[in-house]
Amino acid sequence: MRKKIVAGNWKMNKNLTETGVLLSNLKINLENVSETEVIVAPTYTNLYYAFEELKETQIKVAAQNMHQAENGAYTGEISVDMLKSVGVETVILGHSERRAYFGETDQLLANKVNTALQHKMTIIFCFGEELQDRKSNTHFSVVEQQLKNGLFHINRADWKNVILAYEPVWAIGTGETASPEQAQEMHAFIRKTLANTYDQETADEVSILYGGSVKPNNAQEIFAKADVDGGLIGGASLDAENFTAIVNAI
Ligand code: PEP
Repeated sequence: MRKKIVAGNWKMNKNLTETGVLLSNLKINLENVSETEVIVAPTYTNLYYAFEELKETQIKVAAQNMHQAENGAYTGEISVDMLKSVGVETVILGHSERRAYFGETDQLLANKVNTALQHKMTIIFCFGEELQDRKSNTHFSVVEQQLKNGLFHINRADWKNVILAYEPVWAIGTGETASPEQAQEMHAFIRKTLANTYDQETADEVSILYGGSVKPNNAQEIFAKADVDGGLIGGASLDAENFTAIVNAI
């Protein structure tokens, strides 16, 4: 049975003090969550602190990005070994903001995927179409290409370390959500593409999260869809009550 997962991407928000407050509230609120895997992704400078704070809990800590090289002269970058050395075993790759503002291409992401998997990290791999793709009815082929170019070179065995996050760019931070039907339609397409490329068992085991303006008032109907296995949450993950309500909506 594939896992239900809710992950919070805190982006470039929350300093150390604010991170402490949010973590304390989440620890209290989510003490008894057992079936849903909960992941939070604070900024780099707070990863070690978050790991230490959460290590006795069921909440996992993820990084929002990492560099593809093992180490070296890459000023300002963070390596997989650095993440692992502070207890981080999960990394978000391919977020649309990384693609749009930092020029991350499918090829670059394929390299990051390889480095992460070599080090047995779990990857939350993000992808999704832009508004013009949906308007021109090319959203399925855009998503398929992103997956093929960035991810579908990996071995069947490596899928146990991959979580997919379908995030239509037009729905991220805009308040505009894909309807539950639109999310289900795309998730079913992704699973079918996986089954065709690998096999049905692999497709059935992979958790596919939906991301894009998920809030407490719409989470339940999105998560109720058969191929939606949880969510990647941006804005609403910055507030403990909202994030808890979303986790409880599964
Ligand atoms: C995201 O950035 O991954 C995201 C889904 O953001 P939001 O929930 O704010 O749309």
